[in-house]
Amino acid sequence: MEAEGEGRGRRDWSALPTVLILAAGLLLDVALGGALPREVALACVALGAVSYGFSRLWRRRRPAGPAARVRASSVWPDAGMRGVVEAVREPAFLVDRSLALRFRNDVSLAPFGVIALGDPISLRFRSPDLLQALEAAVATGDAQATEFTERSPVDRSWLVDVLPVRGAGSGPPPFLLLLFRDQTASRRLERMRTDFVANASHELRTPLASLTGFIETLKGPAREDAAARERFLDIMLDQSRRMSRLIDDLLSLSRIETRRQLQSGERADLAHVLRSVAHEIEPQAREAGVALTLLGIGADPIWVNGDTDELVQVFTNLAENAIKYGRDGGRLEIGVETAPPLAGKPQVEALVRDFGKGIAPEHLPRLTERFYRVEGKTRERGTGLGLSIVRNVLIRHRTRLRIVSEPGEGATFSVRFDRLDSSEAK
Ligand code: ADP
Repeated sequence: MEAEGEGRGRRDWSALPTVLILAAGLLLDVALGGALPREVALACVALGAVSYGFSRLWRRRRPAGPAARVRASSVWPDAGMRGVVEAVREPAFLVDRSLALRFRNDVSLAPFGVIALGDPISLRFRSPDLLQALEAAVATGDAQATEFTERSPVDRSWLVDVLPVRGAGSGPPPFLLLLFRDQTASRRLERMRTDFVANASHELRTPLASLTGFIETLKGPAREDAAARERFLDIMLDQSRRMSRLIDDLLSLSRIETRRQLQSGERADLAHVLRSVAHEIEPQAREAGVALTLLGIGADPIWVNGDTDELVQVFTNLAENAIKYGRDGGRLEIGVETAPPLAGKPQVEALVRDFGKGIAPEHLPRLTERFYRVEGKTRERGTGLGLSIVRNVLIRHRTRLRIVSEPGEGATFSVRFDRLDSSEAK
């Protein structure tokens, strides 16, 4: 809590040189038994006067420190009012009618730093909107609300309530209370939501535009061209499949995002999950010329906390990617490896590894963003949502996706789980 300067002031030493000069003259006179020459006495008095004049001038030219500003005003919030401001859990400031800061709570220090008591609040908050709200509150005595945003050191947005605080008397409110409410997180969420809608619409519009174009061509110039018709119908089928994949992925994503935490006690057998994924994906791998190997999976179950269907979806997405993007390597491994214990709990690592072209390091941190594709949108092999779905499922499972890859050396996507012993799995 800050109350610096209140009731305290600096001592005024400005007259000291004058006093010393006059005292010296007086002492000299006494020492000489009253025989101080008249000229010397006059010189002492003149010197004293000049020194006094200089000291006043010096004092006036010096910028007023906080203590000086503080003394200049007699309006200070009392202890009760300060206590209320201190109790507020978001940044709060009390300013007087001249908009000078009179009190602020400790919470305000982290986002806004130290602002000296007595300083105009506009020195720190250089916002015309906020200033206007403050002036309107002083002029009308009514509460005002405004927004305040800062770009540096990080983007932050605040809603600011400017509330006149009435004193005991009947006069105009002596203080304004500024309450800052942090809106940064909700603004960011809003922006993400609008970006998402814009991206999703764009992704759907592309195949739709292509379908419309081909339908028009088939109705017009290519009406009688049987060969063109076949080719166009194939492309149209591709595009409509792409649209339905996109819609499926969007629905999966929204279903996963709306679901809450895993139910406690939900168990999944990782061996069963990975065997089913391998079984499902095998025809696709064969068709792509990719040899599939199961690693570390025997007859025994491997129990983890998890939802079987969701984990099947995770490893199917990873295996499909390995075939789509890593087929050049000609091999795909799906399986488990033991990992070092974490916080005293045994760990198991489930992985999908391919030996294809790999992923450049600059893409790795962004792979799980929605709609992110290394090849960009021109090579429309995927929706860019697969890894985003994986990430969201794993967050619910309180674990995360690890990606290790070297360009030209393939990629390993792995997930660590607490391995439960058979008694916990019941
Ligand atoms: P998509 O539906 O486009 O496959 P994902 O979110 O599953 O979307 O993957 C995002 C991007 O990550 C892909 O477009 C691809 O560029 C890259 N990627 C994913 N898996 C692999 C992999 N095994 N090898 C190389 N690149 C990959």
